[in-house]
Amino acid sequence: MTKKEKAMKIAEILDNLYPETPIPLKHKDAYTLLIAVLLSAQSTDKRVNEHTPTLFAKADNPYKMIKLSVSEITEIINPIGLSGQKAKSIMGLSKILVEKHNGNVPDTFEELEALPGVGHKTASVVMSQAFGYPAFPVDTHIHRLAYRWTLSTGKNVQKTEEDLKKVFPKDSWNKLHLQIIFFGREYCPARGHNPQECPICSKYGRKKMMR
Ligand code: SF4
Repeated sequence: MTKKEKAMKIAEILDNLYPETPIPLKHKDAYTLLIAVLLSAQSTDKRVNEHTPTLFAKADNPYKMIKLSVSEITEIINPIGLSGQKAKSIMGLSKILVEKHNGNVPDTFEELEALPGVGHKTASVVMSQAFGYPAFPVDTHIHRLAYRWTLSTGKNVQKTEEDLKKVFPKDSWNKLHLQIIFFGREYCPARGHNPQECPICSKYGRKKMMR
C-alpha cells in the first residue's frame, strides 16, 4: 500500500468518527479567533474558552483592546498561562492591526506571521479557520500521530506539514487537521493506549511503537 493509499484509508476512518468538525475555540470573527489561538499556546482550548468571554466582553476588537492596559489583559488571562508574554503580544498585535490594517486581521501568511506572538502554526489556524484558505496547522499531537501512522518521518513540524500536504488532498486539509486533533484527544493518552485495539494504529501504525 502506498503512503497516499494509507492516508486515504486513515481519512475514511476519521470521517466516520468525526463527520462534523466544529472549531474548538470560541470566537465570533477573525480577530477573536486570532486572540484565542494565540492564547491557546501551551494551554488547553478548554481553559482558553473559560476566560476569553471575560476578555472579549471588555474588548472584542483591536480598537477596544488597545484602550486596555497590558496589566488588565494579563490579569484576565492569568489562569491560561504565560499571561504576561501573551498580554504583551495581544497589545502589540492589536496596535499593528489598527495602525497598518484598518483594524482588520490580514489574510496572508506573511502579514500574519509579522505580528507579535504569531508563528506559522497560529497563522495557519487563522488562515484555515477564519478565511477558509487550505492550510495544515501541525501541533505536537498531529506531529506525533503523523509519525506513528508512518505518514511522516517526523523530523520536525515543518517536515511533518510538508509530508501531510503531499499525501492528503488540498481540499481536505482544513477538515483533517481538526479530525486528527479530535482523534488524538480522544484516543491517544500519554500512557495506557493499546495499539492492537486502536482503530488506526492497529491497521496502519508503526510496527515498532511508540513515541
Ligand atoms: S495506538 Fe495509541 S498512538 Fe496510535 S492512534 Fe491509537 S491511541 Fe493513538
